[in-house]
Amino acid sequence: MNRDLPVADRQQVRRAALRLVRRDVPGFTATLLLNCLAAAAALVSPWLLGRIVDSIGAGGTVDLLAAIAVGAALAQLVLSRYAEKTGHRFSERVQERIRAELLDRVLALPAATVEHIRTGDLTARGTTDVAVVGSTLRDAAPEILVSSLQALFLIVAVFLADPVLGACGLIALAGIAAASRWYLRRARPAYLEEGAARSELAEHLAANAAGARTIEALGLQAKRTRAAERVIERGRTAQLRTLFLRSVLWPSVEVSALLPPVLVLLLGGVLLDRGQVTLGAIVTCVLYLRQLGQPIETILIWLEQLQSSAASFARIEGLATPARREVAAAAPQGDRIEAAGVHFAYEDDDVVSGVDLSVRPGERLAVVGPSGAGKSTLGKLLAGIDRPRLGTVTVGSVPVADLSPARLREHVVLVTQEQHLFLGTVRDNLLLADPSAGDDRLDKALAAVGADWVASLDDELGSLSSGAALGPDRVQQLALARVILADPHTVILDEATAMLDPRTARRAERSLAAVLEGRTVIAIAHRLHTARDADRVVVMDDGRVVEVGSHDDLVAAGGVYETLWRSWYGSRSAGAR
Ligand code: ADP
Repeated sequence: MNRDLPVADRQQVRRAALRLVRRDVPGFTATLLLNCLAAAAALVSPWLLGRIVDSIGAGGTVDLLAAIAVGAALAQLVLSRYAEKTGHRFSERVQERIRAELLDRVLALPAATVEHIRTGDLTARGTTDVAVVGSTLRDAAPEILVSSLQALFLIVAVFLADPVLGACGLIALAGIAAASRWYLRRARPAYLEEGAARSELAEHLAANAAGARTIEALGLQAKRTRAAERVIERGRTAQLRTLFLRSVLWPSVEVSALLPPVLVLLLGGVLLDRGQVTLGAIVTCVLYLRQLGQPIETILIWLEQLQSSAASFARIEGLATPARREVAAAAPQGDRIEAAGVHFAYEDDDVVSGVDLSVRPGERLAVVGPSGAGKSTLGKLLAGIDRPRLGTVTVGSVPVADLSPARLREHVVLVTQEQHLFLGTVRDNLLLADPSAGDDRLDKALAAVGADWVASLDDELGSLSSGAALGPDRVQQLALARVILADPHTVILDEATAMLDPRTARRAERSLAAVLEGRTVIAIAHRLHTARDADRVVVMDDGRVVEVGSHDDLVAAGGVYETLWRSWYGSRSAGAR
């Protein structure tokens, strides 16, 4: 099964960047306009200096020209400051949007995706990648914009000052263009590999931290260390590759940037001798070309960050791909859950193989079988938490694993013994199931599951904030109240009350009965009395469905179920004696 999150391709990245600009057209326009004005103001001084040189040569006065030059420099200063400020604000807004979108996307990932992706990858995308894109937007993007505009204006200005000298200067710039092209062709894959290596390292560290006890208990330290060394080596190789790319780019650029003014001076000298150009024009051109070196260098410095940031942005945008699949998934038509030819493997071998099952709306279905038969796995497949390797699991003809969490919980909810309460209030915890529920619905749901203790909390719905330790039965009650609020047509139960002691379990079963009223129920039955009360019993063994029928029919048939029933019933009777 593919555990890697997708990465957006170039076209998706371009579209996403455009979308971000389109959402703040005034901010973008203001930034662009102010930078254009600042770049234009920067052109005035060199041009005036050329005029001053010519004017001095001709014996004229230069007071007015000098005053204008000072005024232009001041104007450039003020305009640049405002351009920078507007640019930074624009970038901060975009950055905020990217973070909000990332959060939305992560929350909208289908359960089947979240269950199997590497958490390290998701963490790296949510932290390092967002930080890289953020700092690019804050620092690199405004600088690149300013420098690009400056370079463009300067190139046009050189040509206007003297086309021949301008052309000569630009030919020399071809070196920079060639070096950048060489670099850009190789940079994206190199930086994507660097990002992937970073994710793998984060994943590895997280897994080691989470499983530290197991590693120690099983004496796996040496093995894990060797694996870590492999991951670190991958990161080192990836970083060496990007370092190599940079170490070719920079010297080429440094040398190329020196060439244009030198060439203009040489050619200018010849042309001046022939009287084909004025000294002022040469001065202006050399000053422009000297100035050009600076924005080009800035662009290239940031280009590197832009590359690594584009790779990070592609990884962030990649999170939209599984979410897009949900958008494409149509709304389920009806309540019928159907599994057809379902195979599923955690590792190499199938633990569910070739299961076909159709659950009628309103039916009570019990799934039984020996431990390890694949019952819980089937439960997760039917609940859309896992995606079949082969075959389909659909609700109302739509693949259940493609549904977004919000859509999914309107249809199917899996209740297990592992329930989670989030730090916050009882209300926060209940609203997760239906954010629009009012207090009366919350109260009704709590009453239905018998959670009358909530009323005795200091301020009723508001008092879990201290993380007050609730017993497992109360946690389970809140989880069941969430099921009532989500109001799915189908509930899948997997050992929902197995962890509770018998007295609390009986109370919990009563709460459960209220929740299950009027819904389709698929119960993974570890205690077979559930199976006796079910409409149909599905018997699993070694990943397959081996028998299906009512309790009475299956007992009468004398097959696997009858053996299971007799041994369970026998041990119960023996225990009772
Ligand atoms: P049951 O609910 O019938 O006891 P499960 O569906 O839990 O069976 O397990 C079926 C098989 O899949 C077992 O062999 C179990 O070891 C294996 N299995 C269950 N969960 C995982 C997992 N997360 N990773 C790898 N193997 C698993």
